[in-house]
Amino acid sequence: MTLPALALLSQAAEGGALSGARESIVQGSYLVASVLFILGLRSLTRPTDARLGMQQAAFGMLFAVIGTLLNHEIITYQWIITGLVIGAIAGYPMAMKVPMTAMPQFIAFSHAFGAIAATLVGVVEYRHAYDPAIQGLQPGLSSGTAAALGFEVLFGALTVTGSFMAFGKLQELITGRPITFKGQNAINLLLMAVAFGSFGWLVLHPDAAWAFYAMVGLALFLGVSMVLPIGGGDMPVVVSLLNSYAGLAAAATGFAIGNNVLIIAGALEGAGGFILSMMMSKAMNRSFGNVIFGAFGSAPTSTAKKGEARESKTISTEDAALQMAYAGSVVIIPGYGMAVAQAQHVCRELMELIQKKGGDVKYAIHPVAGRMPGHLNVILSEAGIDYGTLLTDVDDANRVLQTADIAIIIGANDIVNPDAEEDKGSPLYGMPIFRPWTAKTVYVIKRGKGTGFSGVENPLFFRDNTLMLYGDAKSVLGSLVKEVKALDEGH
Ligand code: NDP
Repeated sequence: MTLPALALLSQAAEGGALSGARESIVQGSYLVASVLFILGLRSLTRPTDARLGMQQAAFGMLFAVIGTLLNHEIITYQWIITGLVIGAIAGYPMAMKVPMTAMPQFIAFSHAFGAIAATLVGVVEYRHAYDPAIQGLQPGLSSGTAAALGFEVLFGALTVTGSFMAFGKLQELITGRPITFKGQNAINLLLMAVAFGSFGWLVLHPDAAWAFYAMVGLALFLGVSMVLPIGGGDMPVVVSLLNSYAGLAAAATGFAIGNNVLIIAGALEGAGGFILSMMMSKAMNRSFGNVIFGAFGSAPTSTAKKGEARESKTISTEDAALQMAYAGSVVIIPGYGMAVAQAQHVCRELMELIQKKGGDVKYAIHPVAGRMPGHLNVILSEAGIDYGTLLTDVDDANRVLQTADIAIIIGANDIVNPDAEEDKGSPLYGMPIFRPWTAKTVYVIKRGKGTGFSGVENPLFFRDNTLMLYGDAKSVLGSLVKEVKALDEGH
């Protein structure tokens, strides 16, 4: 259905029975949208159905938009169409071109715009309520509506600046390291207390415009000051938390303007974002408070043998290929570097060659491998790697590693750092990790001596059964594939 057709339908449906029918259509499409959002979230919990989940959610959004466009309160479609066109022209190429490794900042950027929309709706609703020109129609606000609007702008404004800060840190427009100063947490808590105090005042005195605008200003400032001390590496957790705030702001908007689908979708996003943040913190073995207030990554506290000149052993791709080709069982551990190198397709080629020679190949996927939850699952599924070969439970993978001939680590670092179990001073201490050193031989593919996201050295690279294959993951894997094929051809 085209927008002009919707406009006509909308005009034609003025008053009477038709108006009642239109309201039913609007509420019906909101109901369908809400059901599709819930089904979409459910499908997203299974990697095999994730694509379907996205489609269900996208159709849900289509129903929500159609329902909203039929709303009898819309006076003109001119600005809506303008917004849709500008949004589509800007959003489509961005979404198509953004690399998977830049997804967290892309998500942060788009949240910021969602939050701007929620905040602006809140401000406009508040202004209208006290605009003398239309006050006759809308005489002020009840405490309940003031609470909903206050909540909306508080979380909305905080999400706007917080998301832009997260985007800046992840995109390295500003330093990714935590920016801290003495008394920072106390100042943030004080600002938060003043913002919530203004909120309380607004609920008791809905006409106190100063409290409303003070809250907007303080929330904008808080978004910046709360994200400043958080390191770039923790940003995905923060982005997910801000996602949750944006959802809460949307749900509050729904209450303020009486829109059911906003309430449901906002609540789903609020809960989903919060649960995801908690799960990510847990998988990194960090408390939620430590992520938000801990300034992780400011200074490595590890007691690891820093400064000691240790040399790791290297191996040629020719020799490594020979051993891989005749291995009985291989566990591949991909990490962030595999995503950077986009080496998933050539990795599948190597896997197929080993399998052809009778070797068993499994992938060990850590819950926080890469830079966002499910990062490596998505990449491997894009390369057509069967989900049945993935070991997604750390304990299961460690059991398989114990009997494996070879562990191949591709661009992973922190998730295989033994200090997480052995060095109490390490920032990684306590994080569940894979134990590739229990396999007979460990091959590590990475470009050089770069550290992982945590910024700490990895003693695994100096262990007796570890052999380094230095180079970009895609080109090293390409050479390994060539060598294994050459063995087949008897060169
Ligand atoms: P890491 O960031 O620990 O290590 C990645 C390694 O890849 C680096 O040591 C780098 O070494 C190497 N690398 C980079 N580019 C290439 C390339 N082109 N070819 C080959 N190697 C390359 O990644 P992990 O996946 O092991 O760990 C993820 C980290 O991110 C964890 O600390 C986790 O807590 C954190 N994190 C994850 C989140 C998630 O949701 N997944 C969220 C927040 C944080 P070199 O430069 O020498 O090549």
